[in-house]
Amino acid sequence: MIDYTASEADIAFVLKYIGQPDRLPDWSDDLADAVIPALGKFVNAEIAPLDLIGEDTGARLQNGRVRMPPQMISAYKRYAKAGWPGLCAPEEFGGQDLPHILGAVQADMLAGACISYEMVLSLAQGCIRTLKTSGSDDQKARLLPPLVSGEWMASMCLTEPDAGSDLGRIKTIATPTADGYALSGTKFFISGGDHDYTDNVLHLVLARTPDSAPGVQGLSLFACPAVLPNGTRNTVQTVRIEEKMGMHASPTCQMAFDGAQAELLGEEGKGLAAMFTMMNAERLDVSLQAVGQMDVAFQRARTHAAARRQGTATEGTALITEHGDVQRMLLDIYAQAMGCRAMVYRTFVDMDLGTDQGLLDILTPTCKAFATDAVNMAASQAVQIHGGYGFCKEYRVEQIMRDARIMAIYEGTNGVLATGIARRAIRAKEGAAAQAFAELVSDGPTSMELADAIEAWSAATREMQTRSDIGPSVADYTRLTGLVYFGRVWADMEAVAAQAPEPDLLGAAAGHVRTRILPEAALLQQRILNPQPTHDAAIFAA
Ligand SMILES: Cc1cc2nc3c(=O)[nH]c(=O)nc-3n(C[C@H](O)[C@H](O)[C@H](O)COP(=O)(O)OP(=O)(O)OC[C@H]3O[C@@H](n4cnc5c(N)ncnc54)[C@H](O)[C@@H]3O)c2cc1C
Repeated sequence: MIDYTASEADIAFVLKYIGQPDRLPDWSDDLADAVIPALGKFVNAEIAPLDLIGEDTGARLQNGRVRMPPQMISAYKRYAKAGWPGLCAPEEFGGQDLPHILGAVQADMLAGACISYEMVLSLAQGCIRTLKTSGSDDQKARLLPPLVSGEWMASMCLTEPDAGSDLGRIKTIATPTADGYALSGTKFFISGGDHDYTDNVLHLVLARTPDSAPGVQGLSLFACPAVLPNGTRNTVQTVRIEEKMGMHASPTCQMAFDGAQAELLGEEGKGLAAMFTMMNAERLDVSLQAVGQMDVAFQRARTHAAARRQGTATEGTALITEHGDVQRMLLDIYAQAMGCRAMVYRTFVDMDLGTDQGLLDILTPTCKAFATDAVNMAASQAVQIHGGYGFCKEYRVEQIMRDARIMAIYEGTNGVLATGIARRAIRAKEGAAAQAFAELVSDGPTSMELADAIEAWSAATREMQTRSDIGPSVADYTRLTGLVYFGRVWADMEAVAAQAPEPDLLGAAAGHVRTRILPEAALLQQRILNPQPTHDAAIFAA
């Protein structure tokens, strides 16, 4: 059963009115008019049918190599041949140089159609961005063209057994050699670390050189190809792939680097900064994964609810969409999907404009944390709307719950991101970023509920600035920050509801956001103003 159709009209609406890419130099609406339907056609025909195959067959490790379902491999060849990997890559390296916001549209649709496919494909996009900013001219000339053409894919190798959230604990060592570096160490949980979509995978690896400073200051970034220029395989081995609750067609690899040949990207000791280019883009990409999955959750829940008849209190039978409680859940999912899409598209355009890095450093993780929490709630509600059928594999909403669960964990757990957001927003020297955020969310039509939410956020920010122990409040503060941004984009959408593909649905969701979702701000404020201390860890000793 193929039950995802790219939401071309909704995407075009959010892009035009909220992303406002006409702020970008060289933007023309013709670009969106050409790319959105072409992408939609490709994704509907080629990618959506893969989701069930990926879920059932998944990735397999055979004789030390990861094997993907043949249908996914052949679809990848068509994806590459059609030029989709190079949509936003520089023309001089074979790309089409279109604005990155169109790459966001691409990720949104791919993620709705087949999330485990999008997850692996997106890594090349982050790698292209990193090479563009951290690679030398020679490295760009050698490494970018095969990534842009889709001949190679990429992986991002940070995590190790003892280094998850704390990358300062990375032990992989990079020893200088006559013509580069030799990498040795173990990396865990590496998405797309190996597969047979392409013959080569370019691993971007965080490692430390001998005698480097301890912690993250000692980390450097390396490019390490799975296949060397002479055609032999580098000494990088996939030791195992993880059995996971979801994302079955995204191979999560344990990798052993055994003196693997690599080259430095950027400067020694500046690896984390270089990797952040990839991570920031990846964080927005994870937000889009959540948007795509909320979109498909809404499509499945809506289709089911609009056909399912059960009783009413007064008459014999009625569609379950007659019930206010089912409407509440449908509006919740739709509101989260469209609101998060709007937050991420706007942030993507801001990122391309590069106007205010301090503000972006708040917006990017806020989008990630808010959207990935939202998708977990939306997936659960899609199951609820299906009743008992939702618990059954056949209806494919339980798959969304399993696939989406990781999004709040990878690319920085939402808890760790929350600490960073709170610190940035409250630090005196970055007070300007909080001020810029306050101005952003206040700029436009502002309902009473949104004004109250903004006031709650301001009061919470002032309170957080006085606190030495922010840990117990960072999740509430991040939720509140996201909620206010979500309220802003929803107010902006409500103002142009008449232009929406489904004005009645959009109008109903806008009212739902104002009266049912935004009031949560008062509760969050109350929790922040009345914090619990961080307890002695001994009480949790096991
Ligand atoms: C399917 C999948 C794909 C992945 N893909 C990749 C990949 O491609 N490349 C890669 O390098 N890694 C990848 N990862 C790893 C992922 O990024 C890590 O799992 C994640 O960063 C968390 O690290 P951890 O699992 O060690 O958890 P831990 O760091 O041990 O965290 C456990 C808990 O403690 C909390 N915590 C930890 N430190 C703090 C702190 N300072 N403050 C507050 N709370 C804290 C966390 O929020 C979390 O709730 C992937 C993981 C999975 C499961």
